[in-house]
Amino acid sequence: MKKQFAIIGLGRFGQSVCRELYHLGHEVLAIDKNEKKIEDASSYATHTLLADGTDEAALKQIGIRNFEHVIVAIAEDIQASILCTLHLKDMNVPKVWVKAQNSYHHKVLEKIGADRIFHPEHDMGNRIAQFLTSQKVIDYIDLSADYSIVEVITTSKVEGKSLIELDIRARFGCTILAIKQNGKVNITPNPNDELHKGDILIMIGSKQDLRRFQDEAL
Ligand code: ADP
Repeated sequence: MKKQFAIIGLGRFGQSVCRELYHLGHEVLAIDKNEKKIEDASSYATHTLLADGTDEAALKQIGIRNFEHVIVAIAEDIQASILCTLHLKDMNVPKVWVKAQNSYHHKVLEKIGADRIFHPEHDMGNRIAQFLTSQKVIDYIDLSADYSIVEVITTSKVEGKSLIELDIRARFGCTILAIKQNGKVNITPNPNDELHKGDILIMIGSKQDLRRFQDEAL
């Protein structure tokens, strides 16, 4: 279903979000106070608007309250980001997602009712550290400081062994959510399913347990 989004602030993050939504076929309104940014945005947004996100009257005039989902991607100017978020929540925009610059910014955004807060540089840094420290990790999602979901590739250590033999949950405390084998994804792994070198496991668990599993079982 086609959805309507507004992105305020077209820095690197705002632009990426905007381009992807537009390519996915959604209607996107791109807002920035910089004229050049707005000119460029006409190639990757449905509508563009030169406006200051802290200007309450301007936000009201463009009918921002009618948008179900607004992304505030002004990060460097923390004061502007906070003020813009405050206006949007005052106008009862249902979903206001905001990029935060640091933990203080995050705390204030939380207090004023931001519905979701992002730290893209921090999250990407964590992901890259995971890839750098393990050749077996293909993808990685941080769930919290302690838990994550990883996509790992198996080695010959597991060749021909069934899940029951490997006894992963009891030995390592982590759970296999799905197995990708020969291009097919099995989301209901059976205890008798056998693993082979090169299979991809999607697993959930504590970071410590997942790391131990990768080091000892793969
Ligand atoms: P990134 O780190 O993702 O590149 P930046 O914080 O550097 O993000 O980018 C901020 C963008 O937001 C810039 O394009 C800037 O012109 C725009 N911006 C900054 N303040 C405002 C504001 N008050 N209203 C609208 N756009 C703004």
